[in-house]
Amino acid sequence: MDFKDPEVAAGATRNIPCPHCGRVHCVTPVAVLRPGDPELKELFCGRLNVIHCPDCDRRFTLNVPLLYRDDPRRMLIYCLVMDDPSRWRETEAQMRELILRLFEGAAPEEVPQLRLTLSRRGFIEKIALHSKELDDRIIEFLKFQLFRRKEGQIDPEEFELLYDFSSDDAEKLVLLLFERRTGKPGGAVHYPIEVYRELAELFNGEEDWRKELELLFPSYYVNVDRLLFE
Ligand SMILES: [Zn+2]
Repeated sequence: MDFKDPEVAAGATRNIPCPHCGRVHCVTPVAVLRPGDPELKELFCGRLNVIHCPDCDRRFTLNVPLLYRDDPRRMLIYCLVMDDPSRWRETEAQMRELILRLFEGAAPEEVPQLRLTLSRRGFIEKIALHSKELDDRIIEFLKFQLFRRKEGQIDPEEFELLYDFSSDDAEKLVLLLFERRTGKPGGAVHYPIEVYRELAELFNGEEDWRKELELLFPSYYVNVDRLLFE
């Protein structure tokens, strides 16, 4: 799928055949989400843009680009589900072109922060981190440390780590392991929230550390995979 401005696609009704039986459904997928939207709940439960086909009694998900926008906090998060995650580079380049066009002549502080995600799981994670005011770059850095540690090593080819947004314990930070191939859960790593806070202080305090974080995640695809599979 190519990168397109999801605002353009928003609200567009189209005919989509059921992938199981071929019955054509006239659908209007949700393409844009904002803080407080009831559709966010659907997204988090895995029901957003899911169609139930009455002919074959099966469900399928509409694969449309999704955009989360928080205008007051100037954040845009895109989700483009791709089978080949190595295509993030070209997608990032397409996004950059669009943003340059949209915000031509704008003052730097008017240009929103942008994130690109290639899976729904990743999209939900980014929205959750943003709503809890956690810096996703530091979370990705923590994941990198975990993949690199010697003891209890986690194979990044086999597993991915995702922030546990369901935890209400504000004193803890939990990263969940999932099998990349099947999406099956494979355990959890718990941190006291201080670990995050100390890292955030370090990276946001010292100029050298701030630059380091910018070097690690220089653009929209803020994902540990960028560091692991370069
Ligand atoms: Zn069907």
